[in-house]
Amino acid sequence: MLFKTIIDRLNVFAQCQRYGLSIWQCPQFIFLIMGIITIVSSISTYYIGNRYVQSPETVALIIIALTTFLLVIAFIITQGFERLAEANRMKSEFISIVSHQLRSPLTNLKWAIELLMSGEVGRIDESQLEYFKILKENSSRMGELVSDLLTVLGIEQRKLSINKKEISLEELTKELIFGFKSWISASNIKVGLEVEKNLPKILADPSQIKLVIENLLDNAIRYTKERGIVEIKIFKKEKDICFIAKDSGIGIPLQDQKHIFQKFFRSGNAMRYQTKGSGLGLFITKAIIEKSGGKINFKSGENEGSTFWFTLPIK
Ligand code: ADP
Repeated sequence: MLFKTIIDRLNVFAQCQRYGLSIWQCPQFIFLIMGIITIVSSISTYYIGNRYVQSPETVALIIIALTTFLLVIAFIITQGFERLAEANRMKSEFISIVSHQLRSPLTNLKWAIELLMSGEVGRIDESQLEYFKILKENSSRMGELVSDLLTVLGIEQRKLSINKKEISLEELTKELIFGFKSWISASNIKVGLEVEKNLPKILADPSQIKLVIENLLDNAIRYTKERGIVEIKIFKKEKDICFIAKDSGIGIPLQDQKHIFQKFFRSGNAMRYQTKGSGLGLFITKAIIEKSGGKINFKSGENEGSTFWFTLPIK
């Protein structure tokens, strides 16, 4: 049992996997590197000491002192990293358990609300229907948040799976714009779509690319004031397909731009303008695009609108 525990502790890769960290952030790997540095420093000290110090006892003492010092430093650093990694692992586990536990009650809640709204279990009047609509909207917001949290976990644990298929960005975008139709007209915003003719298809995961376009479109509409304009362009650029979403909205202040793809980040002006939002969409979007072999970026200025774009390689 003890032997197995020791072997497990020595398996650096398994330990790193447990924490869901890359090898360079993993405490066990850092300890291994520090061990190699200690050995190399001890051997170098031995050779240098033999050259310049007459007494072999002094050389031995210097090496022992140096090795002990380096080992203590390595131990302290690794312990600190291990505590951080353990806290990070526990946080991910907590989010995972809570999200999974919330998923089925939320599905049941949504189903029950829809059943009540349909009038199958008893007649409901107009004012009751309004309350049911609020319940439905809030339960689907919770559902979206739970599903975003689970996607973020998958990204952090490098478990985001991509099932590539031939897809047309044009069709996906048209479908999504159609889905947002009532929200677009209620917000009094114009959404335009311009697509280059005979665009080649791309090889990517349809549900994930749909999520990407949905996030960018959702943000463009959400952060654009009444009578604003959102322009979508899809075209070919060398070996890639380029997707651009330009809006005339509130924009992103310069000081916030470097944080925009970080999870849970929301800029101050966005929070003032729109309370709804989790700050997870762009983190997920970037991870999906990069995993699919593409690039993503944006250009923006406060009150000057924003332009987000991504590229994906042609099949
Ligand atoms: P959410 O929109 O749910 O807050 P996102 O991750 O999609 O989360 O976006 C993160 C933040 O980036 C937003 O809160 C907002 O501050 C900023 N942002 C994203 N897209 C736009 C946009 N089109 N216009 C202005 N700000 C944007």
